Amino acid sequence: MRKTVLIALVAILLVTTGLQAQTLPPRLEFRHQGLKIETTPVRNHVEVSPIMTLLGGEAAFSASAGVWALSLGEHLVQVAPDRRLVLVNGKLAEVQDAPISSPGGIAVRLSFLDDFILAPFGFHLEPIVGGYSIVPGVSSGKPITIRPAAADFSATTTLVLSLDRAVEATVEARPGGGVVVLLPRSAPRIESPNRLRSRRVRSVVAAPGRLEIDLSPTIGLISWNVLTGPDRVVMELGTVPPTPTPAPIIARPVERSGPRPIVIDPGHGGDDTGAVGASGLSEKELTLVIARRLAQALRSAGYPVRLTRDGDAGRALTDRAALANRLDARLFVSLHANASTVASVHGAETYYMSLDDRASDEAAQFTADLENRAGGAGLQGGSTLDLILWDMAQSEVLNESARLALRVQARLNALLGLKDRGVKQAPFVVLTGATMPAVLVEVGFLSNSEELEQLASPTHQQGLADAIALGIGDFLVGQ
Ligand SMILES: [Zn+2]
Repeated sequence: MRKTVLIALVAILLVTTGLQAQTLPPRLEFRHQGLKIETTPVRNHVEVSPIMTLLGGEAAFSASAGVWALSLGEHLVQVAPDRRLVLVNGKLAEVQDAPISSPGGIAVRLSFLDDFILAPFGFHLEPIVGGYSIVPGVSSGKPITIRPAAADFSATTTLVLSLDRAVEATVEARPGGGVVVLLPRSAPRIESPNRLRSRRVRSVVAAPGRLEIDLSPTIGLISWNVLTGPDRVVMELGTVPPTPTPAPIIARPVERSGPRPIVIDPGHGGDDTGAVGASGLSEKELTLVIARRLAQALRSAGYPVRLTRDGDAGRALTDRAALANRLDARLFVSLHANASTVASVHGAETYYMSLDDRASDEAAQFTADLENRAGGAGLQGGSTLDLILWDMAQSEVLNESARLALRVQARLNALLGLKDRGVKQAPFVVLTGATMPAVLVEVGFLSNSEELEQLASPTHQQGLADAIALGIGDFLVGQ
């Protein structure tokens, strides 16, 4: 990740060397949407406050932190004099030249202004006589580093293009086959293209303003989406019916109205019953009942919720996280019930993804093996190595997943007086590829006769749903 940032910075510096080396005139004019200001550069640096005023934004100084908060709309850039780190919309970036203290508060190099203040706000500098015009969009040919990763599932492939910053991107199916990603006004470059291993994606090649993606015959674009936090383009590829005319296949980003939903995944379904208790209570029935109660609890707290299934239909493990990705879900919570060969083992556990192929302990590995074996896992080859490569998506948010797991487990322990089996890590297929904080909750052991009886009771089911909802609420409020 650090390497990506460095490559991007080097690239930016190369492009903007002109701006850097420049000696500024005694007076400099800035224009924006019919307004203009004149500023006096300070040691070849530009005062920031008048620029923010020109843009209709704000520059506020926090004396306690010694930091300037530059805000425009939802965007926030935090900078400090003599500090080479800048926080852009919550992301840390390292800069070549630190801002300096100035009569107006803080002043920066033109390149700094262009890359770290204007770019996050969606503007860039265009030279005009006597100064610069601040116009919408990204400077022409700005480099963007793209890291492709693909995961082959039984019927589809999910291709994730991780971007080093937010850019305007449009994905189109090419009439002749393959896919093109249009990245206007940017110069994409691919990081480690050789690491892309997929049966359906042959190559991803960068060209000015676009990426050309070559696919295997009969494979086409099913859906795509541009997501943030981290910035990425996610596409689903699969077999598409041959079109009689060369008209492009219409693929649209998934429409989402309103805020990002929490996706609840009732484990198993259909032919895949999951674990079954001595009473005949199956995991698939139990997880659906609790999922519905959990959805209701979250909705009444004002959170939008989607279920990966709201009936008995089965769904491949990997399709569940893919659905959450398509919906740009805020969180992904997969519900399961456990089984052990040791009848006395009981209690609820919350898991998050393990980034290597090892679980935090043997019991956790056993649980993961059990869940991964569930019907329709569908990951070709099923090797843990594939999972590890694909884990990059979850690795970006792993700390958040761990925090979510802790909050949920704390509520399960506190409200229900359950034995604390703790928060654990294991390589679960169902969490693989989720690009948002994701956890798997094992609500209890169907193999323990006392707990089985509890799990069958609506009161206990509601208690579990409420505890998980409270844990999710704790996490979201603390975010
Ligand atoms: Zn399960």
